[in-house]
Amino acid sequence: MKEITDLQGSFELHNGVQMPYFGLGVYQSEDGSEVINAVKAALDHGYRHIDTAAIYHNEEGVGTGIRESSVSREDVFLTSKVWNTDQGYDSTLKAFEASLERLGTDYLDLYLIHWPKGDLSKETWKAFEKLYKEERVRAIGVSNFLQHHLEDLLPSVEIVPMVNQMEFHPYLVQQDLIDFCASKGIQYEAWSPLMQGHIFELDMMKDLASKYNKTIAQIVLRWDLQKGVITIPKSSKPERIKANADLFDFELSQEDVQLLDNLEKGKRFGPDPNNFDF
Ligand code: NAD
Repeated sequence: MKEITDLQGSFELHNGVQMPYFGLGVYQSEDGSEVINAVKAALDHGYRHIDTAAIYHNEEGVGTGIRESSVSREDVFLTSKVWNTDQGYDSTLKAFEASLERLGTDYLDLYLIHWPKGDLSKETWKAFEKLYKEERVRAIGVSNFLQHHLEDLLPSVEIVPMVNQMEFHPYLVQQDLIDFCASKGIQYEAWSPLMQGHIFELDMMKDLASKYNKTIAQIVLRWDLQKGVITIPKSSKPERIKANADLFDFELSQEDVQLLDNLEKGKRFGPDPNNFDF
């Protein structure tokens, strides 16, 4: 197990960059006061990592939230993603500049290919490598890439992706994919770690929450970290943003980690990377 210390702790990417292992997701946080307040609440509370995307249409608010917080830009790990309609070499370079403009920053910490688009993503990746070499972005990665997507991409790359951000929770563990990524030096990152809210319905989670005297969210997010998976739960409510991060004062036993691993049933709450129409 990698060492888990506190809300500002990080895992090291294969290029040496430290990526805070706990962050705030802002998908479906509305641009304007909702996302501004969520980002401010998170950073002021001690979060150091924000995950947005061009398609979330809230990059402006994210940028404002960072500037209005008590934390300076260089202490925040900021991720955005290139949307599918912008994939390709020139269009990715353009989309990157547009994201920076909206965010009001001159670099990203991590830029991700949001979804795999076959050969087009190889062109996108060449643009990512250029941005990385020019130090416009500190790390580059992919999202929603299954093993076969990675096996298709990797032979054509000069720089191996540093991160793969995937749907991940106890119903979709995909341990083989985690192991494959680890074998290539690719850090695994969880999206929808709370099953978009469905985690709260699971009886086993209720049992574990009372056993450890923690909330269901804290249990499942702690499980992410103990598995070496970076996690970015979403909430726009300051109280939940604070509570979700209160998981550095306990440790799940190996047996309980295994218990959650065993819930795997290949169930998705989001789109299937093998079958999506956008
Ligand atoms: P999530 O699993 O983080 O669940 C969010 C839901 O849980 C929200 O409805 C929220 O109100 C609720 N919630 C949060 N804390 C709670 C608490 N303590 N008690 C009760 N309810 C609580 O879902 P998500 O937003 O889909 O995923 C997290 C982040 O991952 C996103 O915000 C986004 O940044 C990223 N993401 C990436 C992709 C991708 O394709 N790369 C796809 C989806 C999401």
